[in-house]
Amino acid sequence: HRDLKEEPKKAIKNVLKSWMQERYLLFLLERNGIDPQDTFSGLAKDKLRAFVHDCKHFIVHANGTLSLDKAFVTGGGVSVKEIEPKKMASKKMPGLYFCGEILDIHGYTGGYNITSALVTGRLAGMNAALEAKERFS
Ligand SMILES: Cc1cc2nc3c(=O)[nH]c(=O)nc-3n(C[C@H](O)[C@H](O)[C@H](O)COP(=O)(O)OP(=O)(O)OC[C@H]3O[C@@H](n4cnc5c(N)ncnc54)[C@H](O)[C@@H]3O)c2cc1C
Repeated sequence: HRDLKEEPKKAIKNVLKSWMQERYLLFLLERNGIDPQDTFSGLAKDKLRAFVHDCKHFIVHANGTLSLDKAFVTGGGVSVKEIEPKKMASKKMPGLYFCGEILDIHGYTGGYNITSALVTGRLAGMNAALEAKERFS
C-alpha cells in the first residue's frame, strides 16, 4: 500500500511486480476487476481492499492432478548470467561456486536435470578445489 501511495501515477502492475510473481499478480488483478495499467490514484477503494484480501488470503483448493506433460514444478534460483560458465564460479562473490538444483535452469524430464547436476557439480567442485589450492599453497 505504501509503495502504491508513493507512486500514484505509475501503472499498478509495475509498482507491485517486485512483490510477487508477475503471472500471479496479473491473475489477482484480473480476479478483482483491476486493469494492470490502472494507477493507484484512479483505483476504487473497494477494489483495492478486495485485491489486498486476495494477496493475504487466497485459498487454493486442489481437486485433482494433470497429466505428466504438465508435471513441471520448480523454477528459479541463481541466474546463469551471474556465473562464469567454464568454472561455475560466481561473478559476484570470489571463491563461491554453484551447481545443480540451486541454478536457474530447467531440464526436460528424462534425466537432463540430473545430468546438469553432475556436470555442473564436477566443474564447480574441481574449480573450487583448484582455487583453494592456489590460495592456500
Ligand atoms: C520428484 C522428483 C523427480 C525428479 N525427476 C527427475 C528426472 O526424472 N530426471 C532428472 O534429470 N531430474 C529429475 N529430478 C530433478 C533432480 O533430482 C535434481 O535436479 C537433482 O537431484 C539435483 O541435484 P543436486 O545435487 O543439485 O541436489 P540434491 O539432489 O537435492 O542434493 C542436495 C543434497 O544436500 C543435502 N543437504 C541439504 N541441506 C544440507 C545441509 N545443510 N547440510 C548437508 N547436506 C544438506 C540434501 O540432503 C541432499 O542430499 C526430479 C526431482 C524430483 C523432486
